[in-house]
Amino acid sequence: MAVVFDQTTAPRQSLSLQVNRVSHSYDLGNQQLHVLDNVTISVEAGEFVALLGPSGCGKSTLLRLAAGLEAPSAGELLEDGRAILKPHPDRILVFQEATLFPWLTVHGNVASGLDARGVLREQEYRIGDILKLVRLEAFADAYPHQLSGGMAQRAAIARALVNDPKLLLLDEPFGKLDSLTRLKMQKELLQFWKQVGFTALLVTHDVEEALLLADRVVVFSDRPACIVAEVAVDKPHPRRRDDADLIQLRQTLLDTLGVSYDV
Ligand code: ADP
Ligand code: MG
Repeated sequence: MAVVFDQTTAPRQSLSLQVNRVSHSYDLGNQQLHVLDNVTISVEAGEFVALLGPSGCGKSTLLRLAAGLEAPSAGELLEDGRAILKPHPDRILVFQEATLFPWLTVHGNVASGLDARGVLREQEYRIGDILKLVRLEAFADAYPHQLSGGMAQRAAIARALVNDPKLLLLDEPFGKLDSLTRLKMQKELLQFWKQVGFTALLVTHDVEEALLLADRVVVFSDRPACIVAEVAVDKPHPRRRDDADLIQLRQTLLDTLGVSYDV
């Protein structure tokens, strides 16, 4: 495989993330909606951490804070020890819905990431390699409406990866995909992560997905979210979903979330 990640522009491919006693509230006019409550998480450079928690507890909010799109009401977020104050291409957010520009081809969508940073001319040569990495090289000239859900999400991931992110923030990226496509994409995400070496923070509501991918799983309570459990997944990849230890961990996590699969 060709060198996809330009080491001259990206000497280090990952950064550490420190979430220090972060609380966050939204101003609803007549009241404050308390969303995050004193959350502290330390993510090492290159680590893969999954965030699990009930719907509406504040997971996406935490990713937006880490992306620098919003400032926390209290506490601080640090990247490699420096305060995160605004968005930066080092930290990229990938959403559940592939947010592609419908009027641009796949190539054009990936190019838009480079264009936004003013480096399209120097780095356009990398788009072909990135599209190979996500297996979309044959669809470079296709428009978003011509893609399946999985392909659209791969194109969105390609657009994120072309920026050489050091921290990839993934907000339920496979939530809208059918279960087979989801399994394939999980494997692929793991390959990108190994190949590129970015730090990954993945929000998911899928306990199995968290256990198959992450080095560590952080579980949040209902809103306002605080951390109720942190589980290290000390298993090499590839992991098997029928691994006895993972099944045990899954039960522990489901119990923590107050969900049981017993019927
Ligand atoms: P999750 O991703 O865990 O489902 P979110 O972080 O999206 O949760 O939202 C947490 C809570 O904050 C929800 O009740 C949501 O309605 C509310 N919320 C999210 N964004 C805003 C906003 N910009 N303004 C006001 N309330 C918001
Ligand atoms: Mg969310």
